[in-house]
Amino acid sequence: MTRQILVTSALPYANGAIHLGHLVEYIQTDIWVRFQKMRGHECWYVCADDTHGTPVMLRAEKEGLTPEALIARVHAEHARDFAGFHVGFDNYHTTHSEETRACANEIYARLGAAGLIETRIIAQYYDPLKQMFLPDRFIKGECPKCGARDQYGDNCENCGAAYTANELKNPYSVVSGAKPEIRQSEHYFFKLSDPRCQTFLRRWTQGEGRLQHEAANKLREWLGDDVDNRLTDWDISRDAPYFGFEIPGAPGKYFYVWLDAPIGYMGAFKNLCAREGLDFDAYWRPDSSAELYHFIGKDILYFHALFWPAELEHAGYRTPSKVFAHGFLTVDGAKMSKSRGTFITAESYLQQGLDPEWLRYYYAAKLSASMEDIDLNLDDFVARVNSDLIGKFVNIASRSAGFIGKQFGGRLAACDESLPAIQAIRERRALIAEYYDAREFSKALREIMALTDLANQYVDSVKPWELARQSGREHELQIACSNALNLFRLFAVLLKPVLPALCKKAEAFLKIPPLNWDDGGTLLAAGHLIENYRHLMTRVDKKQIDALLEANRESLLATPDSAPPPKSAAQKPPATAGDTSTVDSGRAEPTLGIDDFMRVDLRIARITDATPVDGADKLVRLALDLGPLGTRQVFAGIKATYDPATLVGRLTVMVANLAPRKMRFGLSEGMVLAASDPAGKAPGIFLLAPDDGAQPGMRVK
Ligand SMILES: [Zn+2]
Repeated sequence: MTRQILVTSALPYANGAIHLGHLVEYIQTDIWVRFQKMRGHECWYVCADDTHGTPVMLRAEKEGLTPEALIARVHAEHARDFAGFHVGFDNYHTTHSEETRACANEIYARLGAAGLIETRIIAQYYDPLKQMFLPDRFIKGECPKCGARDQYGDNCENCGAAYTANELKNPYSVVSGAKPEIRQSEHYFFKLSDPRCQTFLRRWTQGEGRLQHEAANKLREWLGDDVDNRLTDWDISRDAPYFGFEIPGAPGKYFYVWLDAPIGYMGAFKNLCAREGLDFDAYWRPDSSAELYHFIGKDILYFHALFWPAELEHAGYRTPSKVFAHGFLTVDGAKMSKSRGTFITAESYLQQGLDPEWLRYYYAAKLSASMEDIDLNLDDFVARVNSDLIGKFVNIASRSAGFIGKQFGGRLAACDESLPAIQAIRERRALIAEYYDAREFSKALREIMALTDLANQYVDSVKPWELARQSGREHELQIACSNALNLFRLFAVLLKPVLPALCKKAEAFLKIPPLNWDDGGTLLAAGHLIENYRHLMTRVDKKQIDALLEANRESLLATPDSAPPPKSAAQKPPATAGDTSTVDSGRAEPTLGIDDFMRVDLRIARITDATPVDGADKLVRLALDLGPLGTRQVFAGIKATYDPATLVGRLTVMVANLAPRKMRFGLSEGMVLAASDPAGKAPGIFLLAPDDGAQPGMRVK
């Protein structure tokens, strides 16, 4: 049965370049969409630039552009980068469009008619010079607790204290430097606290298979199982000056960027419908039989699994069939870093001449249906691409195609259907399809690569290159090479969702129409003519990776970018629990100045209590005495090496000014120092200890 499927990826913000971290999601989605299309389903993939909000407005001003000119330029850059990685959107639109405006107005009007919009006066910081209200991230001042300067309006990076913007001492506007005033303003709220919303969301988020297990659990935490309403109303308006859509009937009030971002999915689809003659309502009405899937990063689950379905439901639209969240990208086990050169832009990857399908393959080989982070290990990247793509897949064709061209006029012999490798592919095809459909790409590729081993064993056993040297064995040679090329074609079917460009080249040299999934059940007929073999893909050279890192490396001495983070930080979901801390690779770090080092406040600490943490295999909860600085609670991943009971009383060293992190188990207020082998060859983790004489609270430098 042909399914009607609408698929989206999250909208990138029109304020920066696409990098390898973003690409995890677009490549994941694209592979899934290509698979569905190969299966013959009607599948549409839409996305758009997310263009509204204060950061875009201010950046355009800084560059001396109108916001419209800025977002047009960024849109072209984003579209170029996605195309470079073969991300095949059916429409890449913009939220600054009449379609999105119409959908936003409609949803707003319907929510209003349902009694779910309310206005309220709120007090907010106002920049009298710039004449605009300031989001928290655009206010800095002195920490009310430790007095550190230049701290943001939500927490102190020096002592870790959390507070509200109006507790800051000597606050100033990041935009103009002026002293902000508190002013009152009327804001519009979506009444998420309404019992209708809460009841709906409790049911919706726990619906069968709608969210991944981990996501459903997180949503249950946010919503609670009980009848107490835990959600608060959502502020959906911002005051002028603002770059966005003015709220109908409310001059000077604009929809908050996070309101119209998901509505941008509808806008992009509406624009596609006009172009393709599709029926928009058939996909969006409440009883629609079409499927709707959102691929997102786990950090924006709050918006896609709470606000968005609640808006749709109460505005009389269908809700998403499923929301698929993925984890973040690390490079060589650590967060992407500008100083290490691992904050790699899509543009630089392509400019350095690296093949985009190497990355598509590597990501696919790491991706699963879970929300776990994935790691781009650069040495492994080189090894795996060369071994799997070149050594196992391309090799099947390159070792056999030349003989068919040179000795048999490009004509194939009949393929031997009883070959074990062909039988094995036929047996495993359905399972591989299930893996693709379930977004278990790593499992699909593991199956496919095991099958290529069988195919290569066959080629090794018949040795075409030896047959070619012996007279009287021409027919055997033609059969051996025809078998190999048929195997190659079957692998092209299985790998095409991941490697669309390479498979297109394969289709050209095999002289066949574009492969669909069902073509994996057939073979090329005897007498089929192929073109001369052309080179399909080169090996990765480690030097290319080194050059890529060099091209993306930024000096630590450069002035840190003081621009506030993009809009997602402006309305953060409640603390994300249990993010794994980053591990460093074996690479030596770039140098840093003494001032940078002195910003790290290292202190002697006495462990006064140490207990295991329920539900966390590796963690120990430590109570640390810092002498005059008081006591701190820290969660340390040291349980594999230490029995907690033996730790009490000993001295160690801690980072005392690390921003506190809210974890599932409680607040972690720092970090103890410990040594471990970055390569993981020598197991264990070893706490640092000072010599005799050191006292709790002493500074380490
Ligand atoms: Zn402070």
